[in-house]
Amino acid sequence: MEKRIFRSSATKAVHAGETKEKYADSLTTPIFQTSTYTFKDSKEIEAYTKHKKERFEYGRYGNPTEKIAEHRLAALENAEDCVLFASGMMAITTTIFAIVQSGDHIVITDDCYKKTLEFCESYLKRFGIECTIVPFGDYDLMDKSVKKNTRFIFSESPTNPYLNVFDLKKFREIGKKHNVITFIDSTFATPVNQKPLEYGIDLVMHSATKYFAGHNDILAGAVLGNSDLIAKIRSLHKALGGVIDANCAYLLIRGIKTFPLRVKKQNESTLEIARFLENHPKVEKVYYPFLESHRHYQIAKEQMKGGGGVVSFNVKGDLESAKRFMDSLEMIYIAPSLGGVETLITHPALVSYYDYTKERRLDLGITDTLFRLAVGIEEVHDIIEDLERGFANI
Ligand SMILES: *Cc1c(COP(=O)(O)O)cnc(C)c1O
Repeated sequence: MEKRIFRSSATKAVHAGETKEKYADSLTTPIFQTSTYTFKDSKEIEAYTKHKKERFEYGRYGNPTEKIAEHRLAALENAEDCVLFASGMMAITTTIFAIVQSGDHIVITDDCYKKTLEFCESYLKRFGIECTIVPFGDYDLMDKSVKKNTRFIFSESPTNPYLNVFDLKKFREIGKKHNVITFIDSTFATPVNQKPLEYGIDLVMHSATKYFAGHNDILAGAVLGNSDLIAKIRSLHKALGGVIDANCAYLLIRGIKTFPLRVKKQNESTLEIARFLENHPKVEKVYYPFLESHRHYQIAKEQMKGGGGVVSFNVKGDLESAKRFMDSLEMIYIAPSLGGVETLITHPALVSYYDYTKERRLDLGITDTLFRLAVGIEEVHDIIEDLERGFANI
């Protein structure tokens, strides 16, 4: 890897992971559109096989554009190494399979991404891997749930849609006490706002689809940690094959260049919007970790630099009021996902949880009037004006 040292995130985002000398003098990173790599002669083969000279061999085992993206993300997270995947879910599932085997046990919190829970709860069972789901924030129960065959404990922070914040110090203590791997999904925070590895967490994952890529145009996932753990995950990754392609890696690199700028802007705008919502007569409740009213405000302030770009809130009234609000928005798109330049709104009850019974949905706290706003990089007053338009129609 390039040995130039860059200190700040803003600079790393533009330069890290690349040499100053560029292929064909091209300033931007080339897209190495190839599935395989050539050997000049038998000597070169032997240099690679017998003498372990580093080089590329075949697309599934690595690509130069992908490598640069991995090195750049590792620099941003201050991680020894990074491995990229075709999506965030590929990153999570491959990592889990790299760590566990039949007869093992894992512990995860209940406030996780729906597909992560589904994978751990339903699919892992088929392979004889047991999963205990503990309520988010119940550190004692998490501690007590760890058994002799527990391989890792997993949480997200902040979580979706209530932006609950997990205490990373407590998480690490539980991991250390039982000598199990701690694994955190830090997608909502990004390394601009939170660096779990600095708290002694073993593995960090990101859906790079969100803030890193930042333009709602690609899917990608990343896992970061120490070299030994990442090597183990990379090894299985080469067999499972969910690799990111070179075009996608290029778009990721391009997105990363502006990622610290975007996240800082999103932090500022979202806090302003959260305050606006909190003072609005048509709003019942607001969830944002950097609002004093949030249940995890203290811990968020301690371990995060910014509250992130997502705010959730309940409008006053019922499902009809919620629909009228959403249907009156002119600029804000109704769409899942987050972290991109466009402001997006979702109504979790109508979208992500439409197939749940009302009882189960309400158990999870997904009410009829709940919205999640993923703030983009538009002028904040234009976003507020659009929300105001929605409220006026309730
Ligand atoms: C989107 C998301 C994922 C899944 O990532 P994909 O890139 O969509 O596969 C996992 N965790 C969190 C917190 C997410 O927001």
